[in-house]
Amino acid sequence: MTNPYSLDHARSLDATDPLPTRRAEFHVPRHDDADQAYFVGNSLGLQPRGTRAQVEDVLDKWSMEAVEGHFRGHSQWLSYHGLMREPLARLVGAKPLEVVAMNSLTANLHLMMVSFYRPTAERPAILIEAGAFPSDRYAVASQIAFHGFDPATDLIELEPDLPGGLFSMEAITAAIETHGHRLALVLWPGVQYRTGQSFDLREVTRLAHAQGARCGLDLAHAVGNIELSLHDDGADFAVWCHYKYLNSGPGAVAGCFVHERHAHSGVQRFAGWWGHEPASRFRMGPDFVPSEGADGWQLSNPPILGLAPLRASLDQFDAVGMPALRQKSLRLTGYLQQLIDERLADTLEVVTPRDPAQRGCQLSIRVRGGREQGRALFDHLAAHGVLGDWREPDVIRISPAPLYNTFEDVFRFAHAVEAWRDAGR
Ligand SMILES: *Cc1c(COP(=O)(O)O)cnc(C)c1O
Repeated sequence: MTNPYSLDHARSLDATDPLPTRRAEFHVPRHDDADQAYFVGNSLGLQPRGTRAQVEDVLDKWSMEAVEGHFRGHSQWLSYHGLMREPLARLVGAKPLEVVAMNSLTANLHLMMVSFYRPTAERPAILIEAGAFPSDRYAVASQIAFHGFDPATDLIELEPDLPGGLFSMEAITAAIETHGHRLALVLWPGVQYRTGQSFDLREVTRLAHAQGARCGLDLAHAVGNIELSLHDDGADFAVWCHYKYLNSGPGAVAGCFVHERHAHSGVQRFAGWWGHEPASRFRMGPDFVPSEGADGWQLSNPPILGLAPLRASLDQFDAVGMPALRQKSLRLTGYLQQLIDERLADTLEVVTPRDPAQRGCQLSIRVRGGREQGRALFDHLAAHGVLGDWREPDVIRISPAPLYNTFEDVFRFAHAVEAWRDAGR
């Protein structure tokens, strides 16, 4: 056995891993004369090399075919979003009719709440996790107020019961059962963005439904990170973005899941012409007839230039498949945890659960000694080409993305931390 704490060992892990890195398929930012160790795929994923060609195809088609581009060829714009349907369904464990790429995450969350948050005087409340991503909190609070209820009483924010901002399943169960009779909706994250904790989404859904509430999921940090089985888990809806682990570019067109049980149910929604069933959409009639499934929640004809990068991204995920990618992710993040445990425990404390079943690729790492120490380390890492991201007051998030991060990247992180510590901080 070579010493796990060596560049040679990290490189041999890369050379012998059952799933070779696909790093060469991505543009990796440079630092000095080397690739950056880029651990911020949880914020903005790297650009696949195939993206440019997909975008240029659309530009070419537009320049040569203009309006006829809507109707010509395999990648005609009329059905362009449908090219993403099957790979997206595979990615999230859904049936094809349950998923659609459209809008942005927060916009989709609002559209889903229009349909699946239907408060009554007896049942006005929404349960979310305390410390939720601000946009989610703004969205649910504004929906509650929009319906004439009061976020001060009807937005229930579950406080974490475990150190580091983590939740036990017992606390989630107790909260849903305690508030159950008042709950219209439980909105829960697949992976919590601050702590990196992942959840048993089937159980959360079951608990919500057992109380007569709807269940929605925010998968911004889960999609492309952990294996999902949205259809079987049974949530009513899910929303996510495509610019984090999905590598589809800043502000990329987002994703949305509506469970099959609502596919033909005529559930109320805010309608637009692109959600109209396609066979008669262009009769331009006055009455809205929804497309079956998630497609029926579309509003506008989609931004084709915005969707093009998602095609390139899904090609990458399809080439590997989530099961193999997740296995690699467990090895990469496991190596990161091992190096921290064995060499850096005096400097760093991992906040994210140790149990791999309760996390994705991200480790949220608290820097011992407080904010000033944390900022100093963060700046030191960045100056040495190791990029994580910073969460106040003292946490650095490091997210080894299994499509393009390597064991060598992980080693470089640990080595840079050690150099900083040994230099007296
Ligand atoms: C990234 C993220 C968002 C971002 O919302 P946009 O509408 O895409 O700007 C929202 N919620 C969560 C939980 C996120 O992680």
